[in-house]
Amino acid sequence: MDRDSKGLAVVLRSERIRENDRLLTLLSVPLGLVNVVSYGARKSIRCVRAPLYTEGVFSLSLSRGNRWSLKDIDVISTHECLLDDLGRNMAAMLFSDMVITGKDAGPESYALYTGALDLLEFYDTESVVISFIVHFLAAAGLGGDYERCPRCLRPYGEDEVLGFSDIEGVAVCSECDTMSGSLILPPNARRFLSRTLSLSLKDSMELKVSPEQRHRIFRYMLRSLSLSFPGRLGSLEHGIWEL
Ligand SMILES: [Zn+2]
Repeated sequence: MDRDSKGLAVVLRSERIRENDRLLTLLSVPLGLVNVVSYGARKSIRCVRAPLYTEGVFSLSLSRGNRWSLKDIDVISTHECLLDDLGRNMAAMLFSDMVITGKDAGPESYALYTGALDLLEFYDTESVVISFIVHFLAAAGLGGDYERCPRCLRPYGEDEVLGFSDIEGVAVCSECDTMSGSLILPPNARRFLSRTLSLSLKDSMELKVSPEQRHRIFRYMLRSLSLSFPGRLGSLEHGIWEL
């Protein structure tokens, strides 16, 4: 028997299957992570289009063989401008990758992901990437709070340079460092990450930081993410960013 579902969702990934159909990976509020076939996505102007990063109220139906298909969308935002800019598109692909690979599909993940896509349209890409990674890892219980060492629980000194533990995949105090000082976090960068985490994703966009400092923190977050994340992130390994 057929079943329907209607609710908020966003397109994390879109792959072409067969001549005219696409397989969408949605992050859906009612269903979590779900694969949905969009039939005839290229064939007719009458069919329902769901480009990558589209957020809206999606109407789906479950047909025989337990396969969801797309019936209709009330679009909230297409996030169209993310597709026109390589850097923004790479950032959004990384966010999709983290949600899909991390299988973190709760309402907090939805709010973080769609919030980050909205911010990418207006704010500096590196700022959004830094804040998304910090918030995502914290929500998933994978990152430290940048206030105390997650390994020995000692509060960091004001001017302490942090090391990294590739065992736990987190920034740690210099005594708990397992990487011989090859991935360090200077005190001003640590304070910036701590403040980022104490603010909402949107409010953290207002933190003042020089473009050079921001770029260094951005590089640090990408390098540490590749060590922290429990799963391979193809967009990081094959993306445009040098780690
Ligand atoms: Zn420690």
